[in-house]
Amino acid sequence: MDFVHAPFWSNLATMTALTRRRDPDARQEAWRIFYGDVHVGTIGIRSGNPTGGDQWSWHCGFYPGSNPGDASDGTAPNFDVARAAFESAWSVFLSKRTEADFLEYRRHRASTAWKYAMWDAGCKLPTQTADGRARCFCGAEIGIADMDQHIYAAHMEANAA
Ligand SMILES: [Zn+2]
Repeated sequence: MDFVHAPFWSNLATMTALTRRRDPDARQEAWRIFYGDVHVGTIGIRSGNPTGGDQWSWHCGFYPGSNPGDASDGTAPNFDVARAAFESAWSVFLSKRTEADFLEYRRHRASTAWKYAMWDAGCKLPTQTADGRARCFCGAEIGIADMDQHIYAAHMEANAA
């Protein structure tokens, strides 16, 4: 899949970790915003093409790894205004985050991806077998109790920044 990679706020030293990629699934212009490897929000043209109002909308925040109410969103007349609003929202959101929040998000993402990979491989999860034991697609024996540990140890994506 071809993503357009573009610097987001390359002029702001503190924001160099943010990048944007065109959303390939959106019919209208939409951008997914990334902080390193974490998808932290979107900026795009509003669907339905509202007349007389803001044409753009943005959403900032990720979950799990944040509290209800931490994420925010809004509308704007154009991309630049939406980007500025996103920038403010992100600095607030980021100021409330800890490394543990990012770890929680990455672990959740790894677990989700692993379950899909298990289904794709035709493997049963330990929760789906009578004795609570199963074999991972990588060949490892896993049980209900050590399933998460195995995912985090063997199937976590590298924290590429
Ligand atoms: Zn495995």
